[in-house]
Amino acid sequence: MSENCTHDCSSCGQNCSERKVDFKEKQNEKSNVKKVIGVVSGKGGVGKSLVTSMLAVTAKRRGYNVAVLDADVTGPSVPRAFGLFERAEVVTGEKNYILPVESKLGVKVMSINLLLESETTPVIWRGPVIAGTVKQFWTDVAWGDVDYMFVDMPPGTGDVPLTVFQSLPVDGIIIVTSPQDLVSMIVGKAINMASMMNVPVLGIVENYSYLKCPDCGKIINVFGESKVENVASEYNIPITAKIPIDPNFASLSDKGTIELFDGDYLNNIFDKIEK
Ligand code: ADP
Repeated sequence: MSENCTHDCSSCGQNCSERKVDFKEKQNEKSNVKKVIGVVSGKGGVGKSLVTSMLAVTAKRRGYNVAVLDADVTGPSVPRAFGLFERAEVVTGEKNYILPVESKLGVKVMSINLLLESETTPVIWRGPVIAGTVKQFWTDVAWGDVDYMFVDMPPGTGDVPLTVFQSLPVDGIIIVTSPQDLVSMIVGKAINMASMMNVPVLGIVENYSYLKCPDCGKIINVFGESKVENVASEYNIPITAKIPIDPNFASLSDKGTIELFDGDYLNNIFDKIEK
């Protein structure tokens, strides 16, 4: 800190240890979101959207007002999982607001796919435009009263997830991983990114953890013994969960009926979020 420090970091270019710059976007007057939980993964395809959707359903089943902000702009899968194909409405006034679309159970969802003409329109945008869109999902959507908002974060630890992290007031994150990623450095990168952003990692979910034979019930560890507990203790992550490979999950997501999923795989993770 310089001798002449005014404690106004926003107008100072020095990178001292006391530096505090808040890039967080303010909530609008049509939104009262109490807790924001980011769902992240080191790379795509590990089941991050499935876990985001299942967490939202778990919270809804416990009677909370729940929302999902789909920040995975180039791979938005949340609307389809909830069977939402309509366009989001815009209400015009002194300030225009976008209304989230509600699922059958009443989970509020905002995603680029609810704004584009068609679900298959590709989003060929550069990083800053994608990050700007996610910011607008926070600033321009009339979310109303929400106890828990789950943010399906863009995968990886690059520019876009970083900007999203910086602009949304994320209270904690859940990391989703595949068994293979647990033995590589990919999960470590995601955990370290969260710690650099000062966001607590509340839990880690190992997806595709095992397979249960539908005929004899035998558990098959397709990728070998699970490493999730070891990784959690190495990084001091309090809660772990395991989700099996189950064709039923893929089918529910494809059919838009994820709200009907059976099982309590994420109950302990939500207990931790609820505390
Ligand atoms: P991500 O958001 O990490 O890219 P998704 O949640 O979209 O990944 O999952 C990728 C695909 O794999 C989807 O079709 C999803 O339904 C399917 N899937 C995810 N987890 C499982 C699982 N445990 N068992 C079966 N299918 C799964």
